Amino acid sequence: MRMQNNVVLVTGAGQGIGRAIASRLASEGAYIIINDLYENDNTRETLREVQGAGSNGCIIAGDVSDTVICRDIIAEGFSWAGGIDVLVNNAGIERNAEFLDVTEKDFDAVMNVNLKGAFFMTQAFAQHFRNTKRKGRIINISSVHEELPFPHFTSYCISKGGMKMMMRNLSIELAPLGITINNVAPGAIETPINKSLLNNPQQLAELTHNIPAGRLGKPLDVANAVLWLASDEADYVTGSTVYIDGGLLWNYQEQ
Ligand code: NAD
Repeated sequence: MRMQNNVVLVTGAGQGIGRAIASRLASEGAYIIINDLYENDNTRETLREVQGAGSNGCIIAGDVSDTVICRDIIAEGFSWAGGIDVLVNNAGIERNAEFLDVTEKDFDAVMNVNLKGAFFMTQAFAQHFRNTKRKGRIINISSVHEELPFPHFTSYCISKGGMKMMMRNLSIELAPLGITINNVAPGAIETPINKSLLNNPQQLAELTHNIPAGRLGKPLDVANAVLWLASDEADYVTGSTVYIDGGLLWNYQEQ
């Protein structure tokens, strides 16, 4: 059991990658704090999966794009579970629009969840490590789009690129507090965020053709990398991005 006696908070854990991370780490003994916008059937299903994996957890709902709520989620997590060892900043959204048509509302929504939310969750978490000898772990679910352009998703790319630089800066600032911070950057993963892609056979075939591994990723592919970064095996790893993309990012072919 690689995560025994660890408390792990996963944001956006009501479905998709966040849910897979919750159940995979639970299967290694972690107590899981499940965050999502609301306590609903989705979050309760994640809790059932966590329990089915042989561990336990709780749901602390709240919108991570609100800084006051970020502080409340972390404070409640620390008092409810007696501490939090690992923070997984997974909650994320995307909005599709040509640059000329992007609205301020959509730009703000993406930045506030993906970047500001991760920033202030991380700050509230790290503040609890002042003057303690405990070890902490932060794992951000970024994207290949922290590196790779994605036309019509410019605000999404900016948010993930910002997450990359946040992670690199904080690997330096948080090391003295005993906290490591790394990004896990998925390629194309089969989750509800890709619903329209998964329902479009032609688009799906074109994308799969660009993935050297010849398939989309599964949420479990991402969760396994998070498990490693959260475990003692990754004690000396900080400031890094681990790509989980079947080779998508570096695939370039001459026609
Ligand atoms: P998803 O849409 O299936 O799940 C995201 C979850 O986050 C949802 O349950 C949603 O309710 C929650 N959420 C949204 N806004 C929130 C907020 N303000 N506060 C709390 N929770 C909130 O998405 P997914 O595919 O599981 O993606 C998870 C993460 O992985 C995201 O950060 C996404 O950018 C990243 N990612 C996904 C893919 C992919 O192909 N699926 C690829 C690269 C990166």
